[in-house]
Amino acid sequence: HAKACGRRQAQYFNEDISATAKARFLLESQLSEAIEAGVLSVVYQPIMSADSHSVVSAEALVRWQHDSLGFMSPAEFLPLAYEAGLIAALDLWVLERVCRDIQQSQAQGLLMPPVAVNLSADAIMDPMLADRVWALLEKYQVQGSQLELEVIEDAIKGDSKVLRRTLEELVRMGIKLSIDDFGTGYSSLLRLKNLPFSKLKIDHSFIQDLPDDQDDCAITLSILGMARGLGLKVVAEGVENHEQEAWLQHQGCDYLQGFKYHKPMPIDAFLGLLVTV
Ligand code: C2E
Ligand code: MG
Ligand code: MG
Ligand code: MG
Repeated sequence: HAKACGRRQAQYFNEDISATAKARFLLESQLSEAIEAGVLSVVYQPIMSADSHSVVSAEALVRWQHDSLGFMSPAEFLPLAYEAGLIAALDLWVLERVCRDIQQSQAQGLLMPPVAVNLSADAIMDPMLADRVWALLEKYQVQGSQLELEVIEDAIKGDSKVLRRTLEELVRMGIKLSIDDFGTGYSSLLRLKNLPFSKLKIDHSFIQDLPDDQDDCAITLSILGMARGLGLKVVAEGVENHEQEAWLQHQGCDYLQGFKYHKPMPIDAFLGLLVTV
């Protein structure tokens, strides 16, 4: 039995390696080819108001789906895109797809709520980013207020004039900026104070064991208190059950995101949700 298990494990291991190797080859051969092959797509996860439980915005999340490769989660293929130096291009592709989806929803007479797109450190450090975003807004006739951008703490840790100028230009276009996975990275309160962010997203690892884990309660409360003092809104990520929801609501968290409400879904399902709500 042990031997059979070992063999099965080895087989899975080999399949993993070959899927990773194929993914790397596809990514490195050209992101555009991977996109043309239809392997990348975008799904939307609704974000709820903690008061009314209505959909107030959504987060766009990239997906990798291929006939022969099967499904890969972002955690598996984003590191490959980083390594290959393609992550900024991937982020821009997602942003363009979101702008296109917003334009198409408008053409159907639907009003999408603001959509948040994740940006890697490479994308946010690109001195041309604000120009690229502006060009997309123009091309798809999208208002800046229809977009939000999320970056993790570590992506903004360097003190650079270019970063500050980029963030200020994005805000001037009406785009709201969020710090993602807050609490897991290098964070300086001074930078929070000085950079034009308007939301913090509390990482799901702190939400997971609420309200039983005293440490997580203390951490979440301190984030909520600090955010309130700085005039920032707070999103709790990874809300899965009623106990978490009730506690977060009671403590004054503004927005909730998680499987308790909706899993990430294709654009048509998301638009359907808006129509029926
Ligand atoms: P994130 O930005 O923090 O996104 C939230 C992740 O939590 C998503 O995972 C989402 O599916 C998952 N999630 C949402 N609600 C729940 C819940 O209730 N329980 C649990 N266990 N998970 C929940 P996903 O889609 O696998 O994405 C993982 C990460 O990959 C994202 O974390 C983000 O850092 C990165 N990512 C995704 N799309 C992009 C992209 O277009 N560009 C960049 N640079 N990064 C991306
Ligand atoms: Mg995010
Ligand atoms: Mg996050
Ligand atoms: Mg995360």
